[in-house]
Amino acid sequence: MKIYFLLIPTLLVLWGCGKGANEPIPTEGPSESSDLVPDAHAADPVKTTNIEQLRISKLGFDAAKALAVAILNTAASHSQPPESTLFQNLGIELAKVNYDIPAPGEDLRQCVKDKAVLAFVMTNSPETIHICSRALQNTSKNKMAQILIHEISHVAGVHNECMATKIEVTAMRMSGKDLAFKNGYMQACGIH
Ligand SMILES: [Zn+2]
Repeated sequence: MKIYFLLIPTLLVLWGCGKGANEPIPTEGPSESSDLVPDAHAADPVKTTNIEQLRISKLGFDAAKALAVAILNTAASHSQPPESTLFQNLGIELAKVNYDIPAPGEDLRQCVKDKAVLAFVMTNSPETIHICSRALQNTSKNKMAQILIHEISHVAGVHNECMATKIEVTAMRMSGKDLAFKNGYMQACGIH
């Protein structure tokens, strides 16, 4: 994991803000609280009374996961070491990490507690990406892939939200895609 700490500051210095969007991109996700949580019970299942909108299928989720790996690999092929190594390693991590998806009618405790959070990683068991119910509904493959790229940075040991956001934004743009959404950290991090 230590390799990431060496690579990420370089990444931050080398890449600027990237191209602007043609149309407004919605902002979603937490702006102040972190989606890297210390609470050991953050992923406990909680019954909800929310009526779910159209939920991404298992097949759709797997396709989004494959897309996230492809985005990271394309970003790696369009960059030089050490950045290319970082993207490549994140793609490998993404393919082998665990995914915790709440059952229909349930959500995870952290998702209920923080209404803005889309997904999170727990500091005491960072090998799993926990996905909130709201992130599974009416979602596009691109949006889910972008969420996963942010979270895999946390799995890989990036605890700083601005750094995780920079990785997320840079990977999306270097792969030739625009952002599916702006995350809530971007403004405070000065990332446009
Ligand atoms: Zn985060």
